[in-house]
Amino acid sequence: MTHHTDDSTATAAHVTDPVCGMLIDPDTAAATREHDGTTFYFCSLGCAKTFDADPHRYGHSHP
Ligand SMILES: [Zn+2]
Ligand SMILES: [Zn+2]
Repeated sequence: MTHHTDDSTATAAHVTDPVCGMLIDPDTAAATREHDGTTFYFCSLGCAKTFDADPHRYGHSHP
């Protein structure tokens, strides 16, 4: 009667695709971009291209 099925820590931390908001695993990301020293992960090349067009529009702001 234990509830030990929550093994979310067993997998790598998931990240959010800033363009579509999808939760993805960095290991299986279709594309990545480095911007301002931060790595962003995308579910598809399409999202990465959208990010390329205007990085600061998608969940990324500068101080
Ligand atoms: Zn920036
Ligand atoms: Zn996406």
